[in-house]
Amino acid sequence: KQPILEVKHLQKHFDLGSGKTLKAVDNLNFSIDRGETFGLVGESGCGKSTAGRTIIRLYEATNGEVLFNGENVHKLRGRKMQEFRRQMQMVFQDPYASLNPRMTVGNIIAEGLDIHGIISGRQRKERVSELLDAVGLNEEHASRFPHEFSGGQRQRIGIARALAIEPQFIIADEPISALDVSVQAQVVNLFKKLQKERGLTYLFIAHDLAMVKHISDRIGVMYLGKLVEVTTAEELYANPLHPYTQSLLSAIPIPDPEIERTRERIILEGEIPSPLNPPSGCPFRTRCPKAMPECAAAMPEFKEVKPGHFTACHLY
Ligand code: SF4
Ligand code: MG
Repeated sequence: KQPILEVKHLQKHFDLGSGKTLKAVDNLNFSIDRGETFGLVGESGCGKSTAGRTIIRLYEATNGEVLFNGENVHKLRGRKMQEFRRQMQMVFQDPYASLNPRMTVGNIIAEGLDIHGIISGRQRKERVSELLDAVGLNEEHASRFPHEFSGGQRQRIGIARALAIEPQFIIADEPISALDVSVQAQVVNLFKKLQKERGLTYLFIAHDLAMVKHISDRIGVMYLGKLVEVTTAEELYANPLHPYTQSLLSAIPIPDPEIERTRERIILEGEIPSPLNPPSGCPFRTRCPKAMPECAAAMPEFKEVKPGHFTACHLY
């Protein structure tokens, strides 16, 4: 069966002038099956948002391919491009900045319907009510403005907006990072519920692994513009291979104080290097507790070391 999304050797480089190139996304390879949630995780600046924006074609790719239902997104024109714009939607990180403060919630949600000329009049109103209900709000909210809502409610509005034109695929770029911890789980549960009801596929971007494990089927870990590990969520937690993934996992607190007291934390030394001037060889070597001389000499290849489990590290 064909994956809904295939990312092949995707690169997004930014030319910063005076001979400087920022390799924000460098040779990404992964695919997402229909109905699956793929978590994309890494520290801020690792290129995960740029990857999302290049996949949905807010940015043109420098190199490589993004295949959506088998078609190269970056080659689509005209009606096919319009159709793609309907099928893939984005939910943004900041629910305060991403909603137009001068538009009513109803008009925000219906904007996509209006742009694509899908429905009008009473149908439009019914559709907005149905969407508000689906995200845990109600029809009275349609005439209000974004500032009247809490962060969690605003993110629900952002989700309703993304759902309005019935996409198949949603890219959620750190949709819970700006929210209080107490509402994060509620929003994650809403994403899960909507996926079940509507058969959605998600690319779920996050900066840590704590929440992502509750929603993802598979997870990709990024570091300095590259994927360093991809496998199922279960396998990643049980058997992380890449030293960077191991350090991210060890940073998640465990609720059981007995385990928490005895386990070893992997504390990474130093800062994440500038993506403008990445280390030679393995990009993680300047912070890797297991670095060996050969790590400086050659870039480890991203390869399948166990069935369905990919990593880029000279240890394997
Ligand atoms: Fe660490 Fe070397 Fe593996 Fe890179 S290749 S993660 S430096 S052991
Ligand atoms: Mg980001």
